[in-house]
Amino acid sequence: MVPFLNLQEVNGQYRRQLLQACERVIDSGWYIKGQECEAFEREFAAFCGTSYAVGVANGLEALSLILKAYIQMGMMQQGDEVIVPANTYIASVLAISDNGLIPVFIEPDPGDHLMDPARIEEAITPKTKAVLPVHLYGQVCDMDAINAVAKRYGLKVIEDSAQSHGAYFGQKRSGALGDASGFSFYPGKNLGALGDGGAVTTDDAELAQTIRALGNYGSEKKYEHLYKGSNSRLDELQAAMLRIKLKDLDEQIRLRREVASSYLNDIRSDYVNLPQIQAKEGHVWHLFVITTPYREDLAAHLERQGVQTLSHYPIPPHKQRAYAEYANLCYPITERLAKEVLSLPVSPVQTPQQTRRVIEAVNTFAPRDA
Ligand SMILES: *Cc1c(COP(=O)(O)O)cnc(C)c1O
Repeated sequence: MVPFLNLQEVNGQYRRQLLQACERVIDSGWYIKGQECEAFEREFAAFCGTSYAVGVANGLEALSLILKAYIQMGMMQQGDEVIVPANTYIASVLAISDNGLIPVFIEPDPGDHLMDPARIEEAITPKTKAVLPVHLYGQVCDMDAINAVAKRYGLKVIEDSAQSHGAYFGQKRSGALGDASGFSFYPGKNLGALGDGGAVTTDDAELAQTIRALGNYGSEKKYEHLYKGSNSRLDELQAAMLRIKLKDLDEQIRLRREVASSYLNDIRSDYVNLPQIQAKEGHVWHLFVITTPYREDLAAHLERQGVQTLSHYPIPPHKQRAYAEYANLCYPITERLAKEVLSLPVSPVQTPQQTRRVIEAVNTFAPRDA
């Protein structure tokens, strides 16, 4: 069997250290807004190369609080527009609509599936206030081009780094490439908590302070409320466990890269397209996504060979019932990708034998009607 992702094994690598961290927190008697979260924020900011990191409840809240803070700071208002890739996970879009802002979708690059900087300009209107590039699958978007357009039009650049912890673009890491960045520590992400968690990174002191207050009932000082905030905090237990896993993240990324380079070297099939990569050193391979017009057939073949796969994502946000108001919009590249993408298993605990089994299973595939 090659499971898509064995989280028991991923976390089992750190079992003793995780238990020690939990004991430390249990014995401290302090479970929210304490030393562990503070230390993790410092360490995660240093890892990303930003001045600030603010722990929040999850990745959706990280993105949503960035926009909420900009509204609070008077930099945008309800009804303003945010440009977002049409082929992203729905959370990127929910963060926008949750704040009364309007998502404006653009088609991705059909090769690497990332935000296409050439399509930003035509989507800009007088109401556009931000662009939200998503570093999909663990590969960073072309941030030079995106930042250049954003600068020309005075737009904020908000990175969705939920899939790209540690990914590089040139010398900088995901999280340090725009005005602010949202991270998720959902268990299945490359840096996963043992529950929900998230963080915002930024160099903007006022933004960091506003987000911190917004996620703490709008309060900086106990029982004094500056904003109509919410409760969105990274708890001490999760922070303590994330500190352990953060120390080993670069090694875990290296192991993911080994799996990915075996796939890239050894998968030979007329029926599948391998992922297009920009900078080999930068990609952190949260997902290894191939495309094929024979997706259902291939997934069934792999399943029979004991290889689990998933599709990220089979229905784009504008085709979801939740966004019925956008049902008439048409994004042919996005809609084709939704039908053709298939994610192969990739994880730091995947053995070379398992990787070979996946490669053989893909290489022996022949569609029924070919
Ligand atoms: C996982 C994910 C999110 C949301 O993170 P949660 O912690 O699950 O809320 C946002 N954007 C992308 C691209 C994701 O993959």
